[in-house]
Amino acid sequence: MNIILIAPPAAGKGTQSKLLEEKYGLTHLSTGDILRNIASDGSELGNHIAQLLKEGKLVDDKTVFKALESKLLELNSHNGHIFDGFPRTINQTSMLDELLSKLNQKVDSVIYIEIEKETAMKRALGRTTCPSCKEIYNIYYDTFTIENHCNKCNAELEKRTDDNEEAFNIRFDTYLNNLKPIIEYYESKGLLHTVKAQDKKEDTFSSIEEAIKG
Ligand code: AMP
Repeated sequence: MNIILIAPPAAGKGTQSKLLEEKYGLTHLSTGDILRNIASDGSELGNHIAQLLKEGKLVDDKTVFKALESKLLELNSHNGHIFDGFPRTINQTSMLDELLSKLNQKVDSVIYIEIEKETAMKRALGRTTCPSCKEIYNIYYDTFTIENHCNKCNAELEKRTDDNEEAFNIRFDTYLNNLKPIIEYYESKGLLHTVKAQDKKEDTFSSIEEAIKG
């Protein structure tokens, strides 16, 4: 089963992907995570990507696709995938179709998570992530055993360079500008399910489960 999660920044794609991964044994592929890894490797390409991420701008289709393709082939998962953050442009929808068809796979379900900009902004500004186990927290909603440390593995939490007001605005607006044709594409194929981001992650997850079970 291959599931795509489409959602604005900070709508909970990462959190929901983790829940789907745990329950259904799917492999979570986040192009944001893949790009953040390359951005920290000190190479010329890495530095270029780091600058784009910091500004909240999209990385070009070809670069993202190459990074995603090599990760997908490296993982060689037979259980299916959750695509988190890809496709983000209409061009990337056909890139993904071609890549999956080479593996004799296809997109089975597309979940579009809706959220108000104001709510997403609050989530982004409060978000901190564990660099070690990838757990995601929000300083406004979560409590911590040790301040600024992961409750699960104790690593020091990190803030993303693009979770500030200026970059968030660019990311959210870029997302909205690219969204319509992507939504229409999957709607025309009968694959699209729209769910609302709820305050509690478990509630959003229930709606996603209902959608994929159809
Ligand atoms: P995310 O972790 O999904 O919020 O993505 C963080 C950032 O990575 C985005 O703001 C973009 O700069 C970049 N990015 C992630 N996925 C893509 C994609 N499919 N195409 C272009 N840029 C991307």
